Amino acid sequence: MKIIMLGAPGAGKGTQAKMIAEKYDVPHVSTGDIFRANIKNGTQLGMEAKKYMDQGLLVPDELTVKILLDRVANEDCKNGYVLDGFPRTIPQAEVLDKALTELGDKIDYAIDVDVPDENIVKRMGGRRACLACGATYHIEHIPPKKDGICDTCGEKLVLRDDDKPETVQNRLNVYHEQTQPLIEFYAAKGVLKTVDGTQDMKDVFEAIVKILG
Ligand code: ADP
Ligand code: ADP
Ligand code: ZN
Repeated sequence: MKIIMLGAPGAGKGTQAKMIAEKYDVPHVSTGDIFRANIKNGTQLGMEAKKYMDQGLLVPDELTVKILLDRVANEDCKNGYVLDGFPRTIPQAEVLDKALTELGDKIDYAIDVDVPDENIVKRMGGRRACLACGATYHIEHIPPKKDGICDTCGEKLVLRDDDKPETVQNRLNVYHEQTQPLIEFYAAKGVLKTVDGTQDMKDVFEAIVKILG
C-alpha cells in the first residue's frame, strides 16, 4: 500500500502517518524528518536544507527528489510506504509518478488532512518535536507524559525554529501557492480522499482507517 499524506503544515500529517505506518506495517517516510536528522548530524545536505527551512521556504526540488527516491528504493519500502511531506510541488509529484510508472506501480491513496489556516496557526505554537526520534507532541492536545521529554526516547523536546509564528505564516503561503495544487493533481488520478483534520486525533485516524480498509 502506497500512501501520500497531503495537507497544510501542522494539519496532522505526521501524527496520522505514524499511526498508519504502525497499523499497516509500512515505513513512515518524512522528508522533513530526513532533513532535520541531517541538520542535527551537521551533514552537507543538512546545512543546505536549513537555509530554506529556517525561512519557511521549500528545499529545492533537485535536492528533495533525489533523497526521496533513494529512500523509497530501500528494501523496507518494497511493500509500500506512507509519504509525509512529499510531494510538495507538482514537479515533485511528476517525478514520483514517473519513477513509479517505470516500475509498473502507482500511488494507491492521497489523503488530504483538511484543516483551515486559523486552526493551523494555533496548533503550531503548541507543537513540540523530538529531533532524535521524530516524535511530535502538542502541549495541550497531545502532551508528553513528562513535561518537555520525549515519551519514546527520553530526549528533550523543542519548539522547531520554523514553528515560530513569523515563519508559520510564510509556510502557509508557500503551501497555498506550491502544494495545494497537488489536491487537484491526485483528484484527477482518482486517488484523492479527504478527511476532516479538525477532529480529535483518534477520530481523524478512524476516518482514515475507513478509507484504507
Ligand atoms: P510540517 O510537518 O510542519 O509540514 P515538514 O517536517 O514536513 O513540516 O517540513 C519542514 C520543512 O522541510 C519544510 O518547511 C521545507 O522547508 C522542508 N521540506 C520538507 N519536505 C519537503 C519537500 N518535499 N520539498 C521541499 N521542502 C521540503
Ligand atoms: P504535520 O505533520 O502536518 O505538520 P503534525 O502531525 O506534526 O502535523 O501536527 C501538528 C501539531 O498538531 C502537533 O503539535 C500535533 O501534536 C498536533 N496535532 C496533530 N493532530 C491533531 C489533532 N487532530 N488535534 C489537535 N492537535 C493535533
Ligand atoms: Zn524521541
